[in-house]
Amino acid sequence: MKPPSPSISNPPTRVAVVAVAAGRGSRASDFASGPKQYFELDGKTVLRRTLEVLISGLEGVEARVVTVIHRDDEALYAKAVECLSSDRLRAPAIGGQTRQESVLAGLKALEDWAPEIVLIHDAARPFISPDLVQSLISEVRTGQACLPLLPVHDTVKKVEGTAVLGTIDRSKLGLAQTPQAFPFDDILELHRRAATLDQTFTDDIAIAEHFGMDVRFVAGTPENFKLTTAQDMHKANSMLAASIPDVRVGTAYDVHRSEPGSEIVLCGLTIPSPVSLVGHSDADVALHALTDAVLGALGDGDIGSHFPPTDPQWRGAASDQFLIHAMERAKERGAIVTMLDVTIICEAPKIGPHREAMRQSVSKMTGLALERVAVKATTNETIGFIGRQEGIAAIASATLVFGGLQNV
Ligand code: MG
Repeated sequence: MKPPSPSISNPPTRVAVVAVAAGRGSRASDFASGPKQYFELDGKTVLRRTLEVLISGLEGVEARVVTVIHRDDEALYAKAVECLSSDRLRAPAIGGQTRQESVLAGLKALEDWAPEIVLIHDAARPFISPDLVQSLISEVRTGQACLPLLPVHDTVKKVEGTAVLGTIDRSKLGLAQTPQAFPFDDILELHRRAATLDQTFTDDIAIAEHFGMDVRFVAGTPENFKLTTAQDMHKANSMLAASIPDVRVGTAYDVHRSEPGSEIVLCGLTIPSPVSLVGHSDADVALHALTDAVLGALGDGDIGSHFPPTDPQWRGAASDQFLIHAMERAKERGAIVTMLDVTIICEAPKIGPHREAMRQSVSKMTGLALERVAVKATTNETIGFIGRQEGIAAIASATLVFGGLQNV
């Protein structure tokens, strides 16, 4: 072994991921044509599902993800990731003749970024959990690799031809899964050395073992199986059909002080009004509430933390950019916004005549279908500050589905 690399921070600050997607995967071919990592499961490719989980498992750490693809698959790859706008995703690397060569290509593509650790994952395992990603990251030390293992429940026989030669003690066996986690410098060095040997390794931990690296394991999960056969694809579809969708709802309230005026901006629409709203931006109270509702469902701060009112660049700003930003944050997290609902509370102006135009305005700026946008209004029955026309308030909710949905 070479001298140990500098020790890894706890938690590590720069985490790389190599997603290996260069295989041809012909064994699943009665399910659909082409490599299995590009098959669709419930409306999303296997590769996209895998990348989404990897990215969400890396929430809070600085991370870069490189997918290693076959040189014939560039168009398939581009289509698979077109809805993933994460800035963590780097350009794909082109794989080699074997899985081992492909991983080395992925590692080399990340070398310039100087990660502390790397997770190497088979793209055909889309049911990896973010928790497993986190537990692997926390186990990697300098000179020490880690992988998920499943216990063996069946009795295992040693065979030759049709003869059974004996029974292997299953308590000493484990079934290897990915991701496999390593100090980046160590595994890159070992892969380079392995490439000079007249021997092919079927996983990356085998390379670490060959060169005497200390290897530990964490508990794998049965769901994290590799999609290999057509039966595996059917099993994956059944799992998705039976799973409960991860629906999250964010709510929000906003209020702006009013003053005598001639027009007002609500839902991005300028309409005649006896009052105007006072605010740092264009004071579009409805869009502010919708923005905060989306950020709320993401657990991602609020409009003030993303667009500080102290920042002069937002003076008089059109508020559609705040909502569009929140929608983009949702997209980056793999979430789909399925409903935006806002209630405007004011005595004047009358919202009714403009309600449909406001819905269309929100639908257009967000790209949501009109039926997924609701704009409602009520007065405050002349009671309180709203009743006295000292201000206008808005209450909103946003419904987000994480993990995908078809036809939205
Ligand atoms: Mg506001």
